[in-house]
Amino acid sequence: MKEMNGIKIRKELLDEYQEIIQKGNLSIKLAIIQIIENEACNLYIRNKEKYAAQVGIKTEVTLLEKDTKEIEVIELIEKLNQDPTVTGILLQSPVPEHIDFQKCTEKIAIEKDVDGLTKENLFSIRNHQEKILPCTVAGILKLLEYYQIPIEGKNVAIIGRSNLVGRPLEDALINRNATVFLCHSKTKNLKEITKISDIVISAAGVPNLITKDMVKKDFIGIDVGMNLVEGKLVGDFAKDIEEKASYLTPVPGGVGPMTVAMVIHNLIELKNGMK
Ligand code: NAD
Repeated sequence: MKEMNGIKIRKELLDEYQEIIQKGNLSIKLAIIQIIENEACNLYIRNKEKYAAQVGIKTEVTLLEKDTKEIEVIELIEKLNQDPTVTGILLQSPVPEHIDFQKCTEKIAIEKDVDGLTKENLFSIRNHQEKILPCTVAGILKLLEYYQIPIEGKNVAIIGRSNLVGRPLEDALINRNATVFLCHSKTKNLKEITKISDIVISAAGVPNLITKDMVKKDFIGIDVGMNLVEGKLVGDFAKDIEEKASYLTPVPGGVGPMTVAMVIHNLIELKNGMK
């Protein structure tokens, strides 16, 4: 089994991105809106700040009060849309219940949609006209590309149908000529589907969901899940699944580092598009 090392690839990509930014003398700023302050959100944001700074990208985090009204979030987004110094805008999820995440996300100008989560952007992927890929989706594709794993003609099972991961991943893989099975919590015959899949990508957030008996020999496993079990970060794959894998992403150290690298990638794409 070969481990797909997201940390190593992130380092190589960030070196490459730093060079592009320096050579192009690109002035890039990421605006992050945070409403919920908890350990996970703080960590995600700190990570984005850290790697952005490493390649010479500025980050500006606006921390809003928990009781901020939806209209105030929208007004802030609209202000950032107008700010020529801002390259990309990111609304950190989750947001409080009284705020509609998708409604606010829709207000982000498409040329600043660094997460690629506006309807217009998601539709462009579905419509075979990819602009920006959501960062986790882009990260998964980069991992496959790095290890020269072909996608065309392969059976791929995706577990999880969120707008953040599963749905845009389905579209992006179909655009690359894979046969995709999009599975979710109501899928009845998950094992039958994963068993015939060359690549299994799990983004359900359920520990031990995918077990050794559910996959075929030499399958390729991408574990997107991030679950805290007894204080330890684990994915959706059971540990002994590695016996049957040809390639596998570790958790942590697989998809997670790729996601943050793709934030930087998308910012450069947006900057180039804005020239
Ligand atoms: P979500 O809760 O929006 O979606 C989960 C999906 O999994 C749903 O579509 C649901 O139908 C499906 N699901 C749940 N239980 C299932 C089951 N028993 N069988 C089959 N399908 C089931 O979550 P999300 O935002 O898409 O994130 C999914 C997981 O990926 C989480 O653990 C999250 O932390 C992780 N994640 C990791 C990264 C990363 O960079 N590594 C990025 C995004 C999300």
